Amino acid sequence: MTPGVFEYHRPNKVEDVLALLAEFGDDGKVLAGGHSLVPMMKLRLAEPAHIIDINAIASLRGIREEEGMIVIGAATTQAEIMGSDLLNEKCRILPDAAALIADPQVRNCGTIGGNCANGDPGNDDPAIMLALNASYTLQNQAGQRQIAAREFYEAVYTTALAEDELLTEIHVPAPAKGTGMSYQKIKRKVGDYAIAAAAVTLSMSAGQCTDAAVALTNVGDTALLSLEAAEAIKGSAVDARAIDRAADAAMADCEPVEDMRGTVEYRTAMVGEMTRRAIAEALSRVAGS
Ligand SMILES: Cc1cc2nc3c(=O)[nH]c(=O)nc-3n(C[C@H](O)[C@H](O)[C@H](O)COP(=O)(O)OP(=O)(O)OC[C@H]3O[C@@H](n4cnc5c(N)ncnc54)[C@H](O)[C@@H]3O)c2cc1C
Repeated sequence: MTPGVFEYHRPNKVEDVLALLAEFGDDGKVLAGGHSLVPMMKLRLAEPAHIIDINAIASLRGIREEEGMIVIGAATTQAEIMGSDLLNEKCRILPDAAALIADPQVRNCGTIGGNCANGDPGNDDPAIMLALNASYTLQNQAGQRQIAAREFYEAVYTTALAEDELLTEIHVPAPAKGTGMSYQKIKRKVGDYAIAAAAVTLSMSAGQCTDAAVALTNVGDTALLSLEAAEAIKGSAVDARAIDRAADAAMADCEPVEDMRGTVEYRTAMVGEMTRRAIAEALSRVAGS
């Protein structure tokens, strides 16, 4: 299977990407790692007339901390996420999850921005961004706007990204002392998307959970934030009863469909199990509370 005919562009500056996006509109597509876009083009599910490769733009890569935020360039690869000392020290859910994405070839090219912008409910990073309450910087020729990940995902392959916008940065609030986090994913084999997965962040103070977020992957049209699951552990000591209540709430919130990865019942049960495991691991990782 081969893609349709397209013209290839490799600009060196963000402004040139934005100009090309404005010029081509619906006919232009950003190419980052290519590990979702190129398979779609080979299947002729996407037939852009213009491909705009962003890999030559150094300013779109890198991970830094500024003013209480961890800022990640959209074209930063999953391999770079895994190797980041800053993330491994302060936000280890991202390197942990990156290690569960696909295989080394995909992780060496696939980018965090592509994962977040793609809009596939099977992608792992969106649920993590919901749990972390991250926001995305979207830029077009008119300027830039910041949008919460929690407002970005609308439906399968439908997001708030306009066709002339580029995702340039991801902003993650630097986790406070006393915060633990975990991503738990069950898949059929290495390199596969999740049957179900859960991202959990929780903060503890004096033995009580003061804040929490629970988000789910691949069990709905988009990544899902389970507010009820978080409520079940907030204000508790995160004991076994609270964890069971949270797992029940996550199972009630998810909407999986039956497919080659399992029945609705099985995938729902896995949401419960992944939620339990993620809460338990996040709790075990809380330090300094
Ligand atoms: C065998 C295999 C297994 C996989 N398994 C998993 C898995 O388990 N979990 C998982 O999460 N993913 C998985 N993936 C997908 C992989 O992680 C992709 O790399 C990711 O979905 C997209 O990132 P990318 O950089 O490759 O983006 P691309 O494929 O280049 O782009 C994807 C989409 O996002 C748009 N886009 C990319 N960057 C930007 C930007 N900065 N601004 C605006 N739009 C942008 C593109 O135009 C395109 O529409 C797998 C892929 C393969 C081939």
